[in-house]
Amino acid sequence: MPELPEVEATRRLLDPAMRHARFERVLLRRANLRRAFAADFADRVTGATVLEVGRRAKHLLLPLSTGDTLLMHLGMTGDFRVEHRGRPAGELDPAALDPHDHVVFEMSSGCVVTFNDPRRFGAMDLLTPAERASHPTLTGLGPEPLARTFTGTTLARACAGKRTSLKVALLDQCVVAGLGNIYAAEALHLAGLSPRRLASTIATPGGAARPSAERLAVAIKAVLRRAVARQTRARYRSDEFRVYDREGEPCLTPGCPGRITRVVQAGRSTFYCRACQH
Ligand SMILES: [Zn+2]
Repeated sequence: MPELPEVEATRRLLDPAMRHARFERVLLRRANLRRAFAADFADRVTGATVLEVGRRAKHLLLPLSTGDTLLMHLGMTGDFRVEHRGRPAGELDPAALDPHDHVVFEMSSGCVVTFNDPRRFGAMDLLTPAERASHPTLTGLGPEPLARTFTGTTLARACAGKRTSLKVALLDQCVVAGLGNIYAAEALHLAGLSPRRLASTIATPGGAARPSAERLAVAIKAVLRRAVARQTRARYRSDEFRVYDREGEPCLTPGCPGRITRVVQAGRSTFYCRACQH
């Protein structure tokens, strides 16, 4: 399942191929991904110019010159490929496509952007401004962890009064947008905080940030930035994790004698070190 770093790396791949470029041809090779495409999808996209290639949590958001926004989600196995065309738009050789290449965008930048998705849990929706403003998965999302405005204060305010564990709170999209199971565990280890402590313990009774909240916000940004950089260099290469999937292995905190333990919280595996995470 792609997490935020993979989606951000994908955004960076698409940006030079699609931003300020016009869709010259839109080829849908099937009627649906996770959902059916809108009947007028290709008509509404063809001829439109991409104003921006943005991301919100794990969604790619492309506002178009027509006022529509193209909302794309990678699902479990979705991936984009960008190639330079070297021939006029519309002369695509279907024999050169993979059976799982479901959508092909030929852009005025000279790039062909292909969406490949073997399991088809990905999604592409075209939203009007009103639909974007009221979209159920976009409204109610918490702050972007890589935004400058995301700090220990933001995190403490969101966790104040929460009776869940800190790990479970970090997976709540209202607390922080797009932080998944892997990077929540990684950030908690880097910050030296136990995934099992109560979320509210990083805030004062008044909701202000304790030092642990500041440490955690810094750690979340650090693990995500590092993962985005790695994914941008070599997409979908598995990351080297501090704790994730390392049950029984030595802790990587300098001087820590502990080993990584696995516990299950809210049905998901959490990996952490009992010796240095409190
Ligand atoms: Zn440790």
